[in-house]
Amino acid sequence: MDLRDSAEEARFRARLRTWLAENVPDESEPAVLAERWPYMRAFQERLYRAGWVALSYPTDVGGQGLGPMEEAILSEELGRANAPTLLPLGHLGRPLHRYGSEEQRRRYLRPLLAVEEIWCQGFSEPEAGSDLASLRTRAVREGEEWVIDGHKIWTSYGAFADYCLLLARTDPDAVRHRGISAFIVPLDTAGVTVRPIVLANGEEEFAEIFLDGVRIPAENMLGEPSDGWRIAMDVVNYERGAVETGYLPKFARYLSELGEVLTASGLGADRAARLRLGRVAAHLEVLRMHCLRTLSARVSGAPPGPESSVDKLLMTAVEQELMDLSIELVTDVGSPGRAEWFDRYLYGRAGSIYGGSAQVQRNILAERMLGLPRQQG
Ligand SMILES: Cc1cc2nc3c(=O)[nH]c(=O)nc-3n(C[C@H](O)[C@H](O)[C@H](O)COP(=O)(O)OP(=O)(O)OC[C@H]3O[C@@H](n4cnc5c(N)ncnc54)[C@H](O)[C@@H]3O)c2cc1C
Repeated sequence: MDLRDSAEEARFRARLRTWLAENVPDESEPAVLAERWPYMRAFQERLYRAGWVALSYPTDVGGQGLGPMEEAILSEELGRANAPTLLPLGHLGRPLHRYGSEEQRRRYLRPLLAVEEIWCQGFSEPEAGSDLASLRTRAVREGEEWVIDGHKIWTSYGAFADYCLLLARTDPDAVRHRGISAFIVPLDTAGVTVRPIVLANGEEEFAEIFLDGVRIPAENMLGEPSDGWRIAMDVVNYERGAVETGYLPKFARYLSELGEVLTASGLGADRAARLRLGRVAAHLEVLRMHCLRTLSARVSGAPPGPESSVDKLLMTAVEQELMDLSIELVTDVGSPGRAEWFDRYLYGRAGSIYGGSAQVQRNILAERMLGLPRQQG
């Protein structure tokens, strides 16, 4: 794969860069989620209206009919322009597009991509995180409806969402992952209670979702009965891939900011500190090269598979190394941006948990890529 922009890609990049220069807000991202959410949403709405979101979706569902290269350019340029973070659940459009009926695609995709309707991911349960196949939320068919009972947890931005892509067991007799189906659940349906979880920093980024006799129309199943596991694996493969999530430019910016901190603190000549920074830079470059390999696979039409666990592990390693270094360098209480670095450090800890923990990613690589025997017990 030629890693340089083609003439057409270079024109696309230049147009996007101009748009971003004129439209990225001057004020920085609010620190408090209640203010940050509308700020991120407003920017994404503007981005969508200008035709810069959903680039690789077909035009009939609100996309731009372009490809993974343009998505990667967008991601790079957003990071370069220090643009507001995009809302994190756009990847839920992928399963809707792939498994949705014609009617579901027409009804749900465009509002999701335009962030007119917000979606959340209802997979994890109190006793089903890493071992997602043990989930206990049940859906029982009654005439033309499904009746759902259960409890979801750690639902990112659940309190802001209008719809949940929810996994529930529909065939209790089938072996574990085979009896699971996926549903589109409007969160204003009777019997749904969304309860925000207050984190240590006071933010309410997660919610628990309680489902008590929730009745949804039969046509709200996504895909076929027992497609739930397949759909869930597709979702997490997209969630884990660094190309879609645009982490690279963000990390590059953090690294450059840390270089400035190092210089300003007078530690610029300190060999150990320079070595640490250099090591993170090298790992970031490995992550970048791996992302390019992933991108190349996407361009040739391969959907994301278990190798996205490599993206996820590398991404987590780079983020945590960066943040560990920041917490050592930005130690002076009066340092500008200290609180922001500390917030980033705390959030960096979540990297080895969300989308499947680091240990689970290693299990996936061991079993599905290296062909090692499955773990016992
Ligand atoms: C920031 C963030 C956002 C999230 N957003 C969502 C969301 O939107 N929707 C959603 O459904 N979920 C979400 N989650 C939940 C996330 O998917 C789970 O936390 C994750 O899958 C781990 O599950 P658990 O918390 O139950 O931990 P457990 O599964 O209980 O794991 C506990 C520890 O045991 C280890 N472990 C477990 N099994 C194995 C094994 N077989 N081999 C080796 N080690 C093992 C794990 O690595 C971990 O260290 C989010 C989590 C975070 C942190």
